[in-house]
Amino acid sequence: MKVIVVGAGITGVSAAEWLRRDGHQVTLIDRVRPGDPAQASHGNAGILGRSGVVPVSVPGLVWKAPGMLLDRDSPLYLRLGHLPRLMPWLLRFLWNGRRGKVEEIARGLAPLVGDSVDQHLALARGTPAERFIRHGFYTAIYRDRAAFEKDSFGFALRRAHGFEWEEWDRAALREYDPELSEDYTFAAALKDHGFITSPAGYVAALAEHFEREGGTFLQGEVADIAQAGPDRNGGRGTVTLIGGARHEADRVVLAAGVWSGKLAARLGHNAAMESERGYHLTLTGVSHKPPAPYMVTDAKLGVTPMEEGLRFAGTVDFGGIDGPPRTAPLENLRRRVRQIYPRLEWDGEETWMGQRPSTVDSLPLLGASPKAPAIHFAFGGQHLGLTMGPRLGRMTADMIAGRKTNIDISAYRVDRFDRH
Ligand SMILES: Cc1cc2nc3c(=O)[nH]c(=O)nc-3n(C[C@H](O)[C@H](O)[C@H](O)COP(=O)(O)OP(=O)(O)OC[C@H]3O[C@@H](n4cnc5c(N)ncnc54)[C@H](O)[C@@H]3O)c2cc1C
Repeated sequence: MKVIVVGAGITGVSAAEWLRRDGHQVTLIDRVRPGDPAQASHGNAGILGRSGVVPVSVPGLVWKAPGMLLDRDSPLYLRLGHLPRLMPWLLRFLWNGRRGKVEEIARGLAPLVGDSVDQHLALARGTPAERFIRHGFYTAIYRDRAAFEKDSFGFALRRAHGFEWEEWDRAALREYDPELSEDYTFAAALKDHGFITSPAGYVAALAEHFEREGGTFLQGEVADIAQAGPDRNGGRGTVTLIGGARHEADRVVLAAGVWSGKLAARLGHNAAMESERGYHLTLTGVSHKPPAPYMVTDAKLGVTPMEEGLRFAGTVDFGGIDGPPRTAPLENLRRRVRQIYPRLEWDGEETWMGQRPSTVDSLPLLGASPKAPAIHFAFGGQHLGLTMGPRLGRMTADMIAGRKTNIDISAYRVDRFDRH
């Protein structure tokens, strides 16, 4: 078949490569080159969060959020002018943080993230992208055990899904990472995780491999997607670029990250999507790097040893998809460096803002549109989009080939937010 994939972040590149391996003639379209800073996939924390079954919206968040907005050290930001547009999404997002719903969401996330390290290896093995994949602990660090116990809901959920961790005291932490601040006296080191040492380099390498093996990359901005012809079931998909060029294919995959919502609306679907903007500060020429990533729980940020340097990444900034980046989250990240690594030295820094594609129920939209069956959705990876990208891409190829996905995909139905 002829297949067009719209969006060349980790999700689109993964889909394009798995489709190419199935023997399809695949064109990957994006307005930027794979690995570009305009993609969420460029500058994330690189963590393959295979135990990430706990969504951001959890019981109690609704009461904590207002106080967080007023605290200059908190990782939560909101642009007041965006509030009227954000409100319907935010209320549904917070409502989905009730206990029973979170357990249901966890059941939806588990099959997407659980085998993510293997999924990345299956995608990248034998390609130049393989060298970016590392195995290791994913360690949540706490001021003390009492702080860890406050997170017991999330850890119990992880355990219920079969994820295990080691509990480390100050001495064990010091042995693992002698440079870490003495203020962190407890850690939960989640086993058998992985990370990517340069998400931008990784996505670019995967795309180069795809092109080298016969896939096509076309740079352009998609203005519209539609189902061609009156025959809904046998029809083809069309993609119209800004400037008017029109491309037709047997299947079109929409994998445009946070921007997918707008294109899904053209087909009559509500993606219930919002941009959770996040930031990174990467220190270059650092005197020290930890063996594997941390989740710094009091600051809610990831610290990852990258090829580019030591990356501090986090923040949730509800500033709207088109709003300019702000400086306060970066100042916040800069203040955190010394709290985590009091003796660290470095010679430069690089900063970035990216947009997480987040639905109200923290689950992606995956599968063919019932309104336009030639068009498949693959987006909504939220805080775990790097982790689950290869999985979403592979399942998309499975569905297009008519193979069984061997997991229940009803939780990701693409019309679940539509008014019926
Ligand atoms: C600070 C931060 C830290 C993060 N840390 C992690 C982490 O440690 N682990 C993890 O798993 N996830 C993490 N994430 C989330 C992860 O980065 C995203 O969920 C993931 O990258 C989304 O990938 P994507 O391919 O769906 O979207 P993107 O990477 O955003 O790609 C979408 C692509 O679509 C293209 N596009 C959009 N509209 C059009 C159009 N009309 N025409 C042509 N092209 C178009 C865009 O140009 C873009 O290239 C983090 C995110 C942030 C912001």
